[in-house]
Parts: sequence; C-alpha cells; structure tokens
Amino acid sequence: VGLTGWLAYSIYTLGHPVEQVEPDPDKKTLVILVPLPGTGWGAISLLKKLDTENYNVVVISPRNFFLFTPLLPSCTTGLIEHRSVMEPIRNIIRQKKGVVKYYEAEATKVDFENRLVHISDDSEIKGEVSNTVVPFDMLVVGVGAENATFGIPGVKEHSCFLKEVGDAQQIRKRIMDCVETALFKDQTEDEVKRLLHMVVVGGGPTGVEFAGELQDFFEEDLKKWIPEIKDNFHVTLVEALPNVLPMFSKQLIDYTESTFKEEKITVRTKTMVKKVTDNSIEAEVTKPDGSKEIETIPYGLLVWATGNAVRSVVRDLMNQIPAQKSSRRGLAVNEYLVVNGTENIWAVGDCAITNYAPTAQVANQEGAFLARLFNTMAKTDDIERELKKLSAAQAVAKNEEERNKVFDEIKERQKQLRRTKQIGPFQYSHQGSLAYIGKERAVADISWVSGNFASGGTMTYLFWRSAYLSMCFSTRNRCLVAFDWIKTKIFGRDVSR
Ligand code: NAD
Repeated sequence: VGLTGWLAYSIYTLGHPVEQVEPDPDKKTLVILVPLPGTGWGAISLLKKLDTENYNVVVISPRNFFLFTPLLPSCTTGLIEHRSVMEPIRNIIRQKKGVVKYYEAEATKVDFENRLVHISDDSEIKGEVSNTVVPFDMLVVGVGAENATFGIPGVKEHSCFLKEVGDAQQIRKRIMDCVETALFKDQTEDEVKRLLHMVVVGGGPTGVEFAGELQDFFEEDLKKWIPEIKDNFHVTLVEALPNVLPMFSKQLIDYTESTFKEEKITVRTKTMVKKVTDNSIEAEVTKPDGSKEIETIPYGLLVWATGNAVRSVVRDLMNQIPAQKSSRRGLAVNEYLVVNGTENIWAVGDCAITNYAPTAQVANQEGAFLARLFNTMAKTDDIERELKKLSAAQAVAKNEEERNKVFDEIKERQKQLRRTKQIGPFQYSHQGSLAYIGKERAVADISWVSGNFASGGTMTYLFWRSAYLSMCFSTRNRCLVAFDWIKTKIFGRDVSR
C-alpha cells in the first residue's frame, strides 16, 4: 500500500504542479544564487527543505537544471548519459508552495550596499531585456567556484575541464576524435602515439575518477570495437605532489596507485605542469635526488582537474565588504554561514570558506542547515508578532480572568520562542570520502563504521554505486542512472562521436 500510495502521489504531483501565487509584499525576498555548472548542492538541498511559504523565493541560475557532478566523469565515456544526472530546476520548484520564481541568468554582480543582484541572460536567444537587477532582503550565495588554472599559459585555450555537462560532452567527442584521427590513412607513428595519449593533470578525486573511467572505456569497449589502437592508447595522470588523492589514508593511496599500475595507467607524481601548448605539456619533474628537470609530454587529449578558484562575482563581493579583505580563497563565513561583515548574506558550497573541504557532502549539509535556519527564523518572526498582539490584548483585558488567560498564552509563546531560537551553529557530519578508481574498484574512507574504516576493492565499488545512486537528486535520476549502467553492461558504450 505504501509503495502504491507513494507512486500514485509521485504521478499526481508530476501532473499537478502546485499552483504558484504572486509575491507577498509582507514577506521577505530570499534570493538564492546557483553556480554556473548548475551543480548547486547547497542550493538544491536548501530549496528542497525550505518552507517556501515563508518567503518570496527567487532562484537565479545560468542553467535551468541541477547537475549531479559526482557522476560527471562517467558521462565523459558514455557510461552514463548526461541527461540522467540532470534534474530540471522547474521539477523542484513546481512542487513548492508559496512564491518561488526562477530566472535563467548569471549573477554578474552583487550590490551589497543597495541589496541588489545584477543578472544577465547568457543564453543564445535574448529578449528585449537581457540585463536587469533583482532586489533582495536575504541572499544565499552558492555560486560555486571555477577551474583553477594558476595562470599557467595555454591551459584555458587547450585543455578540457570537468565541471559542466558541456565539458563532459566535449571530452567524449575529443576522445573519439583523437581515436579516429589516429586511424587516418598514412598517419605517422609518432602522431598516432601522441593522439592516443590521454593526459589528465591533477591527482585529486576528479582526475583519479576520470582516469579510471577512461581506462575502463578503453578496456571494455574501445579495444574491442577498434583493436588497431590497442598498442598505443595510453592514459597518464600527472600530479605535482608526491602522491595522488592526498585527502585519503596512506593505505588507500597505495591501493589506488597499485590499481592504476595494474590498469596500465601511468601515474607521474612530483610533476608540475608549467606550460601547455596545443599538442604538448611542459612539466617540471622532481627527480629522486631532488634535482629538477623540464620535460615535454605530447598529448592528444588533455583534461585539466587541478581544483577550484574564486569566481569573479564572489571576488567583487568580497572587495565590497571590509571584513572580507583578508580572505583569499572565498567568502569567509561565521558558524551560522553568515558572510562575515554582513547580516543578510549567507554563503554555501565551494564559494564559502569554512573549516571543511569544499565537497558536495559539505555543501549538501550546509544547504539543509540554512533551510532549517530560515524556517526557524520565519517561525520566530511569527511568534514575536503574536506576542506583540497578546501584549496589546492583555493591556485591554476586561477582567482578571481574561488577563490571566492571555498571560498563560504569552508564557506558552515565550517558551515556544526559546525552543525555536535554540538552533545551534552549523556542524558538519562527515560520512566519509569515496572515489572510483577504475576496474570496478573504489576507495572509501568511512568514518561512521567502527571509528575510521578504510576500504578498497569490488565490495567498495558496489557500495560506491549504491551510495551515489541513493545520493541522486530524484527517483527519476536514480532510475535513469541505473538503466544506463544496465544498458552499458549489455550493449557496451556508444563509440560514435
Ligand atoms: P583537488 O584540489 O582535490 O586536486 C587537484 C590536484 O591538482 C592537487 O593534488 C594538486 O597538487 C594538483 N595540481 C595543481 N596544479 C598542478 C600542476 N600545475 N601540475 C600538476 N598537478 C597540479 O581538485 P579536484 O579533484 O578537482 O577536487 C576539488 C574538490 O572537490 C576537492 O575538495 C575534492 O575533495 C572534491 N571532490 C571530491 C570528490 C569525491 O569525494 N569523490 C570528487 C570530486 C571532487
């Protein structure tokens, strides 16, 4: 009965979106800024849990979908189709009560003094108005971060990144382009080797997961459909530090590096890329004796995954707030995620500087915390309004009995108010770190199992799959991802460009 009821309700809400009403001038305007790739972990969990009847909510995002980024590396090889990890923003807001407006636009500037967000329509089709402002009473900045390039020449021009759906599509096309060009009639041997050399820069989780997925693609599909490439297709992971996955335990780092060895992925640690051209990278390699040497490494595909940098809209906001002057990596926030130096701006996700790593898990919990905070704030306002009314009623009470009745009610409301105000500061509960490393293996550092549990291998891979599936934004996403996995198992990945 439970399952049938849930299914019936899901179908009902799909076909019957909750009716939207016009903004209420008595309510505060809460503006939520979502990042460019539409990742928005903080924003999506905030929106899902926020009681939207309490505010006039405005969501601003340049893409009209949320993107489940943990599975983006799988989209680069066609293991998962990109639409399976996209959740339309409208799917979420149409199920919310009250006023939730969505504008497909990029937030180009936050005017802190005047409480305005400047927005710009960056889509191909533009109407008469494509630049305007949105006023706010409360603002949540969840605009994420951009790809760090450290000003290294040639990176922006020649690399593929891995943040957006478009990036994954570009990589997928580029892999097949390299393969088909390598097979062009009379191609020279050196050129074949270069074109089939897939270089990944950055040994963090993004680089490691992508390298693993790419090698899987080669082993499970490319090698079978296009055997001519089997001697020259090669994946290299380049990392400046002495090891990959620095946030994992030593045991899991060793496990990852030995798995990569088995998979025939070359790991080049202590190799810092200094320059990128259209067909090679120049890197400074630290030798075992400590000496340094510059090496040129030719590539066909270059994927750049060296972490996050501050977006210009965030930097501009930081420059407007004196309390942010000493912050370098993003918006410094207090324990309630309020941007330091402000009272009505909160920051979540990769653009906020907290004591925690900028992961999806942290952003997700931050969003949920803000929803709780805003719901409580609204409830507090309601109780305070009611208390004012009760005090007025007490003053004009006709007799002792009436006065006592109102007094009891005031006491009850005050108790309620104390309980409501007891919301503690944000505390992150770390569920563990997971990363896929190829060959149906994953690594997991899980803190909630027997203290601290580190695991790698096939069982961990199954755990990784089920954890990611359960983390998907919606049942629809979960079904699509599961179907993609089954489809690929049966038919293999699509090798068309
Ligand atoms: P990262 O910051 O974790 O790793 C980037 C790596 O690039 C670093 O190890 C750095 O030493 C290296 N690097 C930087 N410049 C270099 C250069 N010039 N040459 C060679 N190497 C260079 O980046 P990421 O993997 O994109 O992750 C970003 C954030 O997202 C992290 O906090 C990460 O934990 C999180 N994340 C987590 C997961 C997961 O848990 N599965 C997946 C993706 C991202």
